[in-house]
Amino acid sequence: MSQYDSNNIFAKILRGEIPCDKVYEDDHVLAFNDIDPKAPVHILVIPKGQYMAIDDFGAHASAEEVKALYAAVAKITKDKGLSGDGFRVIANTGTHGGQEVPHFHLHILAGKKLGPMLANVA
Ligand code: AMP
Repeated sequence: MSQYDSNNIFAKILRGEIPCDKVYEDDHVLAFNDIDPKAPVHILVIPKGQYMAIDDFGAHASAEEVKALYAAVAKITKDKGLSGDGFRVIANTGTHGGQEVPHFHLHILAGKKLGPMLANVA
């Protein structure tokens, strides 16, 4: 298993070395607008702990951290009024999953009909 790279861009955002357009923050979670939005609403939700991807997070995060991440998604989507029309949450993971930044993040996408979940890659 590879090691967490503390020079990744989200680690730098967490350390305050580069800015972000913050949407939400608590002890365990930071959420900010994606710099290159793929939908009218495109928010990234990240744990503050050093987890590389969703599987690392699920295997090693504390119950408090896991709860905080889901609670943040619930709070953000409620506060942004997204629950009614709906939204999509994506966790790209690894090379095949198209993950670019090796710090676990959830994409919240919303604001219009998002179309099919995937192009057919079978
Ligand atoms: P992924 O391909 O799942 O790793 O997604 C990485 C996301 O991070 C992409 O949607 C990028 O647009 C976004 N991103 C990269 N750098 C920044 C940044 N400095 N602030 C906000 N979002 C960023």
